[in-house]
Amino acid sequence: MQYISTRGQSPAVSFEDAVLTGLAPDGGLYIPAELPQVSAAQLKAWATLSYQDLAFVIIKPFVAGAIPDAELRAMIVASYANFSDPKIAPLKHLYDNHYVLELYCGPTLAFKDFALQLLGRLLDYFLSRRQQHIAILGATSGDTGSAALEGCKHSQYLDLFILHPYQRVSEVQRRQMTTVQGNNVNNIALEGDFDDCQGILKKAFADQRFLPSGYQLGAVNSINWARIMAQIVYYFYAALPFLDRGATAVSFTVPTGNFGDIYAGYLAKKMGLPVRQLVIATNRNDILHRFISGNRYHKTALEPSLSPSMDIMVSSNFERFLYDLFQGDSARLTRFVTGLSTEVQQVSADEWAWARTHFDSASVDDATTCATIKEVKQHTGFLLDPHTATGVKAAALCDKDSATPMITLGTAHPAKFAVAIEQAGFATPALPPHMADLFQREERYTVLPNSLEAVKAFMVQALAHKR
Ligand SMILES: *Cc1c(COP(=O)(O)O)cnc(C)c1O
Repeated sequence: MQYISTRGQSPAVSFEDAVLTGLAPDGGLYIPAELPQVSAAQLKAWATLSYQDLAFVIIKPFVAGAIPDAELRAMIVASYANFSDPKIAPLKHLYDNHYVLELYCGPTLAFKDFALQLLGRLLDYFLSRRQQHIAILGATSGDTGSAALEGCKHSQYLDLFILHPYQRVSEVQRRQMTTVQGNNVNNIALEGDFDDCQGILKKAFADQRFLPSGYQLGAVNSINWARIMAQIVYYFYAALPFLDRGATAVSFTVPTGNFGDIYAGYLAKKMGLPVRQLVIATNRNDILHRFISGNRYHKTALEPSLSPSMDIMVSSNFERFLYDLFQGDSARLTRFVTGLSTEVQQVSADEWAWARTHFDSASVDDATTCATIKEVKQHTGFLLDPHTATGVKAAALCDKDSATPMITLGTAHPAKFAVAIEQAGFATPALPPHMADLFQREERYTVLPNSLEAVKAFMVQALAHKR
C-alpha cells in the first residue's frame, strides 16, 4: 500500500516512510492510496475477537508487509498490555440507546494512548532497523504530549520536543508531561495557544535545515498517519457486537479538536462498517460546526474553555476529509486550506450537501458542559470528563434515529480536569495509583516566546548538548 499527499506535490511513499516523515514535504498529509474493504462475512467473524486480535487484522493491510506479522502482532499486544481494563475499550450504557466508549484506560488516561503506545513502538522499530535518530517535534492541546512521552520515552533513537500552550492546559495534563524523566525529553511551554504551537510545528517541518546534520523531524501529532490508523480499530470494536446482535448500523459522536479521531471513524465507515451518523461535538471553538451547519469555514479568535484538549481552531485532519470532498483536486484543496488565514471559505451547494451526508455537528458551551456532567452523574451515577460531556450533549441534540445505538467516545478520565468537575459541583475523582504522587514529582519545562526562531534555537542547543 502506498501513501499519497493531500496536496499532490510530493511522491507517494511506503508505510514506513509515511510514519517516519509525518508531514509530507509539500506540507500535505499522507492518506492511503486505496482503502481496504471489509465484507459482511468479515464483520461477522470479527465480532468475537479480542481488542488486540481485531487491531491486528485491521492494521495489517495498512502496514502492507513493512513489518513481519509476528512482530506486528507483538507490538500491538505490548501497546495495550498496560491498559487498566482487560476489554481495553469498555462500553458503558448511559440511557436509552446511548452509550459511552471508555477510551481512557491507558497510562495517561486519554484516548491518545491508543495510537501513541503503538506509534512509539513503530518509530523505534523502523529507526533501530535503519540505525537512524530522529527529533520528534509535537504540539499538544494537553493530552498528546503526555501520551507521546509515555509511548516514546524508552526509545534511544528519539529525542522528544513537545510544545504545549503556556497556562492553557490543565494542571494534571501539564504535570503528566513535565514530570517525565529522561535526557531525551524536552517540554516547551509556548507563550501562545494551540494553533500557534501547531503553526510553528508545520513551519519547522517545511524547512528542516536548522537541524544538526543527520537529524530529521518526526511527528507524533495526528498528522502522522499511524495515529489515524490505530484509532480506526475501536470504531469496529465498539460497533461489531451491536451488529452481531442484529443492529443494522450504529452511530458515533466524537468530541473533536484536530479532527483526527472522527476522521478515523469516517474511514471505518468507508471501509464498510455500517455507520449511520457521525456527530462532530465541539466546544465554543466551533469552526467545524459552523462549516457543517452553515457552509462557512473561517477562523475566529481561539478562546480557552473547560475542555482544553478541544481548544483548536484550525483542524489539521480536516484536510484529509477535504481531499475526498474535492474528489482529489489537490490544487483546489491547497487554495482552500491556505486561504483560510484571511477569508471565509465556502464549498459548492452539492459539496456541502455531501459533507452533511457524512457529518452532523453541535457546539456545546462551558455552562452546558457543566450542566451535562451534573445531569448525567445524577441520573446514571457516571462522571463524565468535560470533553466527553460535550459529546454526550451533542449526541442528544443530533440523534436522528432512536433505534440506532449512539456511542459517544469517552476521550478522557475526569480526574484530569478538576476545574470543570468542581464547577459542575463534584469533588475531583482520585488519580489512579500509578499517578497518585503526581503532585509531588519534580517538574521540568522551559517557557519560550511564541516564535519559530526561539523554538529552533532551543532544539539546536538541546541536540548539540547530547553529542
Ligand atoms: C485530543 C482530544 C480530543 C480531540 O481529538 P482530535 O483527534 O484532536 O479531534 C478530544 N478530547 C480529548 C480528551 C482529547 O485529548
